[in-house]
Amino acid sequence: MENCLFCRIIAGEIPGDKVYEDDHVYAFRDINPQAPVHVLIVPKKHLANILECDAETAAALTDAIRAIAKQEGIDESGFRVISNCGADGAQSVNHLHVHLLGGKKLAERMA
Ligand code: AMP
Repeated sequence: MENCLFCRIIAGEIPGDKVYEDDHVYAFRDINPQAPVHVLIVPKKHLANILECDAETAAALTDAIRAIAKQEGIDESGFRVISNCGADGAQSVNHLHVHLLGGKKLAERMA
């Protein structure tokens, strides 16, 4: 979608630190990391948030989470997956994305 930051990163118009790509999904490092591993996993098709996520996209995101967790070496130590949605969820980019966080013991409280 025109003027969507993540669509532009996926298209290569804005640089992103890519860690993974397949037919459905693109993933890159968060510019403001909250943990040693902080990857944003994004469907290539523009969906605003998780409310618009279809079953095929959900499966692709799950496959990517598994692959990237292994690739980043955090599959055994553990990690957290978050998808912020809407105003109260503090979603700042309106293109569905999953935060994959790990590489340290994360805080127990999330809110
Ligand atoms: P959210 O607040 O859940 O919508 O997450 C958006 C995330 O995108 C934030 O964690 C930002 O740090 C991250 N972000 C914003 N711009 C960029 C960028 N150009 N490259 C990588 N990550 C970005």
